[in-house]
Amino acid sequence: MFEKILIANRGEIALRVLRACRELGIRTVAVHSEADTEAKYVKLADESVCIGPAPSGQSYLNVPAIISAAEVTDAEAIHPGYGFLSENADFAERVEQSGFVFIGPRPDTIRLMGDKVSAKDAMKAAGVPCVPGSEGALPDDPKEIVKIARAIGYPVIIKAAGGGGGRGMRVVHTEAALLNAVTTTRSEAAAAFGNPIVYMEKFLENPRHVEIQVLADQHGNAVYLGERDCSMQRRHQKVIEEAPAPGIERRLIARIGERCAEACRKIGYRGAGTFEFLYENSEFYFIEMNTRVQVEHPVTEMITGIDIVQTQIRVAAGEKLSFKQRDIEFRGHSIECRINAEDPFKFTPSPGRITNWHTPGGPGIRVDSHVYNNYTVPPHYDSMIGKLIAYGDTREQAIRRMRIALSEMAVSGIKTNVPLHQELMLDARFIEGGTSIHYLEHKLAERSEVKKT
Ligand code: ADP
Repeated sequence: MFEKILIANRGEIALRVLRACRELGIRTVAVHSEADTEAKYVKLADESVCIGPAPSGQSYLNVPAIISAAEVTDAEAIHPGYGFLSENADFAERVEQSGFVFIGPRPDTIRLMGDKVSAKDAMKAAGVPCVPGSEGALPDDPKEIVKIARAIGYPVIIKAAGGGGGRGMRVVHTEAALLNAVTTTRSEAAAAFGNPIVYMEKFLENPRHVEIQVLADQHGNAVYLGERDCSMQRRHQKVIEEAPAPGIERRLIARIGERCAEACRKIGYRGAGTFEFLYENSEFYFIEMNTRVQVEHPVTEMITGIDIVQTQIRVAAGEKLSFKQRDIEFRGHSIECRINAEDPFKFTPSPGRITNWHTPGGPGIRVDSHVYNNYTVPPHYDSMIGKLIAYGDTREQAIRRMRIALSEMAVSGIKTNVPLHQELMLDARFIEGGTSIHYLEHKLAERSEVKKT
């Protein structure tokens, strides 16, 4: 096992990785920007290194600074968390070339999956069902593009091969709007991701977002840890996640889960990963793979009892998975609410000093957050300041516990989206379960209509 790991991230995930390391008896190095000097995990880490000023381009994305921090502290491995450099194949390569272990898949796997066009091709070849769409990238010839869209049938969605974080996508409802949409998405993708390649998919009208968590070691073993339903989204960003996905037959999950585990064996995957699917009319359609730990990993940990972050570290150190598929038991239900520093109605970011921070507790409640009393939320990064996770024997119990937890949560000094979560935990359609990815947007649109009248 490693003796020392450098955590190349910030916020709640830096603290989450730190806790996993501590439990494994591994020393930690926190790297941080000038804006995060006071962060809790920086103080809890055995060592810390400032890697640059607040803007992430100069700190959390500063590869040479991170590598030299690993060198001066004698760390053996680097955990990239999520976001920032976690899915950057060049970073993973630099880490390994510099003699450190990258806690994640091999650089070529990250590269394959990081390009959504090559990822879809690889998944098709591995027998994973995909959303119907163009065969790879869209050609330049406008006539060909029109032909492809007609064959798929409207509405279609134009997506950037290099896209991520809910950006670089455009829905097209009519042929008249098609070519313009392709041109705009191409130039946006070139500017945002440095890659103008776009592809086309059938736009599914009412799907759910259901994803499969996998774990694989370097000895050819791979398992799936069931699914998460992340359909509650705003602007393609997840707001609430839960496991298991309500109302989906277990045999369908087992079938798609097996396919994903098999795909991992075929491509020689290592570490934790997530296959994201759209689910409609009892069918799964692959959209992309995330080659890292995800924000919503705790709901899976709650229902399986498996520590995903510790497993990532163990397999990176060369250990075999300590469990087989048949050893994995799914028990109870778990829901996660992402707590964001933002206005719960207008969704504008609300950074600043938190004058009071009181988190809930009690049976089945887990809080993953780096925040404390008098902590200042910097304006430079993502607005997520923590995650509230509830577990229950049943979905009903998990919802009840989440309602109580939200009512106990007290945050002053900044605005948070806690009121939105409270509203959703009482929402009849959410309680019923199985809402589509468009449900929250529709609900929010209705809410603002009501306000106007
Ligand atoms: P990103 O990498 O930016 O997260 P994804 O490909 O995972 O992009 O898509 C993000 C979200 O966009 C999905 O969860 C879904 O809400 C929506 N989406 C993507 N592709 C489609 C599609 N073919 N039909 C309908 N919605 C889609």
